[in-house]
Amino acid sequence: MSLNLAAPSFIAWQLTRDCNLACLHCCTDSAPGRPFPNELTRQESLSIAEQIVKAQVPYVLLAGGEPLIVPHFFELAQFLGHGGVYLKVETNGQIFGEKEAEKLSHLPIRSLQISIDGATQAVYSKMRPGAFLEKTLFACRTARKFNLPLEITFAPTKINIFEAEAVIDLAASLGAFRLNTGHLMRLGTAAKLWEKLNLSPEDYKKFYNLLEMKEKEFSGKMEILFRPFSIQEDLMAKKISSPGTILILPDGRVRVSGFLPYTCADLRQETLIQAWEKCQKAYQNPKISSGFEEILKDDFVLAGANQLRPLETSDLPAMV
Ligand code: SF4
Repeated sequence: MSLNLAAPSFIAWQLTRDCNLACLHCCTDSAPGRPFPNELTRQESLSIAEQIVKAQVPYVLLAGGEPLIVPHFFELAQFLGHGGVYLKVETNGQIFGEKEAEKLSHLPIRSLQISIDGATQAVYSKMRPGAFLEKTLFACRTARKFNLPLEITFAPTKINIFEAEAVIDLAASLGAFRLNTGHLMRLGTAAKLWEKLNLSPEDYKKFYNLLEMKEKEFSGKMEILFRPFSIQEDLMAKKISSPGTILILPDGRVRVSGFLPYTCADLRQETLIQAWEKCQKAYQNPKISSGFEEILKDDFVLAGANQLRPLETSDLPAMV
């Protein structure tokens, strides 16, 4: 079933695959020096932003890699924000201080999402080698100082599950409005390190019970978002319909779904609205429904989801 909207209601825009970290659980294969070969220029990005504003898309997520290392990040955020688009920004918090918070505080930010994957430096830096928990905590406190709505994410693994409760308490003490978590996603780097990272079913059960308990404890103070819990539950909840969103890749291609290896349009060749129409049509392609059914049978297939290729023309993985 398609929503048949004139424009997407939400755009997730991966600005770059480059990052200042190389996290073990990364779902986008991001790492230092790993941008896509031909990422959009400032001018091309602003031209897409112009189309987003013109189409009155209400909500855009700016993510990466680390979006703050993109030289035109603030120009883009300001163009969208001043054009009436609500924004969500995902960052690892390693290079976020007063200057960055002050700039974002003038924009309609719905969520500044920062990951905290450990309550101690020892565990945090096992998940995010070379990263400093104190810098991330400083980013969180600074965001709150500038009244930015802070959302914390926590990716559970064998390495950090012992600190899950401490991270939830930490998020609440930092003034987060939401803690966002769930089953680790078998995508990107996480898929390559799956045996090392993924929890046992028993540990997931204990984690789920903990989340239910903390949900009650923080009711009315901080939302704990963990349903649907896994990609498979998410797919079942959506009943494999066109989701009303567009996912823009760093090189301007448009991905059908973050869980499938298909692109369906290219914003270097097509307008946003043309790409949007192609996205909606893509969901009528049998490869999409069979792709989702494969995931429902076994999430192992997600390990190949970042090997992107055009939906219509080829089944061979493209080199990215
Ligand atoms: S998880 Fe985030 S911070 Fe870590 S490598 Fe991936 S994009 Fe970068």
